[in-house]
Amino acid sequence: MSVIDEVVAASETYTRNFKLGHLPMPPARKLAVVACMDARLMVDQILGLKTGDAHVIRNAGGIVTEDAIRSLIISHHLLGTQEFVIINHTDCGMLTFKDDELRARLRQETGTATVAPAHFHTFSDVEENVREQIQRVKSHPWVPKQIAVRGFVYDVKTGRLEEVAEARTGAAARG
Ligand SMILES: [Zn+2]
Repeated sequence: MSVIDEVVAASETYTRNFKLGHLPMPPARKLAVVACMDARLMVDQILGLKTGDAHVIRNAGGIVTEDAIRSLIISHHLLGTQEFVIINHTDCGMLTFKDDELRARLRQETGTATVAPAHFHTFSDVEENVREQIQRVKSHPWVPKQIAVRGFVYDVKTGRLEEVAEARTGAAARG
């Protein structure tokens, strides 16, 4: 039995107990989250979210990519979310390699160079990375100024969520 077979079987149990068909499309708590895809981040559990409460946008690193911005703009302008949270975490895989290294390795293994992805968005400092993602959201012309944007680092060893302070003077220079 493959893992896909196992999860399909689990979904059948879920369906038998399902009682949430009445939920509307707009997130009830008007919240959108951008988080790393790391398997240890159970975003709903960490934040106490229930089905229908929030949009959760995930990718490697919890990066505000062009596609994450696309989702946030739709989330706010079409579905009414008013607060955005960005979550990175300790021991992130994105700290363990560099864009150029992976690109070179894949080019060698496959014998093919590609135009996409243009970036893997690796980083070396989690807090700095969170600050950069906050700035990417806040500086976007289609994200209204009244939207609250806050960033956090989740500690995978303790289960604690720690807020990252707003960008300090000179923070960008250390980049
Ligand atoms: Zn991660």
